[in-house]
Amino acid sequence: MPDHAATPRAQLFSVGSELLRGEVVDTNAAELAAGMARLGLELTGTRHLPDDRAVIARAFAAARSDAALVVATGGLGPTHDDLTREGLADALGEALAPDPSLTERLYERFGGPGRMPESNLRQALRIPSAEPLENPIGSAPGWWVDRDGCVSVLMPGVPSEMRRMWSEQVVPRLEARFALRPLHVRSVKLFGIGESAVAERVGDLLTAPGPSIEAGIYAKDDGVHLRFGTREDPARLDVPVERAIAALGEWAWGTDDDSLPGVALATLARAGVRTLATVESATDGALLAILAGHAPGEGEARFVGGRLVVPDAPGGAQPPRTPGADAILDVRLDEPGALGRSRVTVALAASDAAVGFELRQVRIHGSGPQRRRRAAYAALNEVRRTGTEL
Ligand code: ATP
Ligand code: MG
Repeated sequence: MPDHAATPRAQLFSVGSELLRGEVVDTNAAELAAGMARLGLELTGTRHLPDDRAVIARAFAAARSDAALVVATGGLGPTHDDLTREGLADALGEALAPDPSLTERLYERFGGPGRMPESNLRQALRIPSAEPLENPIGSAPGWWVDRDGCVSVLMPGVPSEMRRMWSEQVVPRLEARFALRPLHVRSVKLFGIGESAVAERVGDLLTAPGPSIEAGIYAKDDGVHLRFGTREDPARLDVPVERAIAALGEWAWGTDDDSLPGVALATLARAGVRTLATVESATDGALLAILAGHAPGEGEARFVGGRLVVPDAPGGAQPPRTPGADAILDVRLDEPGALGRSRVTVALAASDAAVGFELRQVRIHGSGPQRRRRAAYAALNEVRRTGTEL
């Protein structure tokens, strides 16, 4: 089979005039583009479409002549300006008619015909070739239409509804319908080293990572991520991952799904620290937000709370000990310096002196909220680094 046969071409539409006016940010397209790349679909274009039946119909007709898959989100609501169903019906030359089982489902959802606004009946309309896709958390069902060698998929615009319908209903159908070669990805995550320094140290690992392997380097708030992907045997990726760790072990804090708070809290747990509290200054609570948003994992110290202090307030330099915590992580962010660099001062006070450290200084790059999040990650990275010294 020729190579391109295994990588079907796809197009993506985000429907809604509010998107074209810049009132809603199109997060659906970004999420679906990432999902399609992982699955093994080649996305050749994305478009924003207005709530205009004729424009939607023309867009579907054009895309269907070029792509094996056309996915649209939005415009499945009950109001007169939700016209995605109508647009696709026109493109296919099919008529919309009420589907009794969809009508029944809508009545069930609303608790009876008398309780449902009549306009919602539009959501029970279907063309003969559309297979409805269940929406367990919303009223608009999706559509799966497989006709003339092209699959068209309609999903709701509400991101949570789209996400669930995509993973539960659309992905399994795509896997059954197309011979897909999913992308396997592994990553190595580093902190305290810049992208160009990484590139220098790993030699040809980025430009020639191995046969059928693609490599990328991305600067994120929690450091630099090296990413390797292949559509062949995922075991191939072990080689570049090991080479990256061998070259950059000093900065590497994790791989794949590891998170810096998780790794830091696990380091503390291994040192016998069961609970951690934080104190931070000039970070707008970035450390608190990161730790509070971290889902607690097995074998990790537990985060029990954080305190924000004003840099120059009386007593600000010596915050009261948070009762009940085995260790307190203290992070202070200085005013931004020259060239977008800032100094972060980190200390870890622990009841067991073996893990604690006093006033370490770390430099970070960036501005605005990113600068504050990087300061928080720098503090977590210092905690992580104590692990290698234990
Ligand atoms: P439902 O009937 O479940 O409301 P729908 O298909 O009618 O779904 P829309 O009316 O187009 O969805 O959009 C509902 C809301 O979902 C919008 O107000 C917007 O907040 C959000 N939304 C729509 N499209 C997108 C998108 N592409 N990215 C992010 N959010 C979106
Ligand atoms: Mg809409």
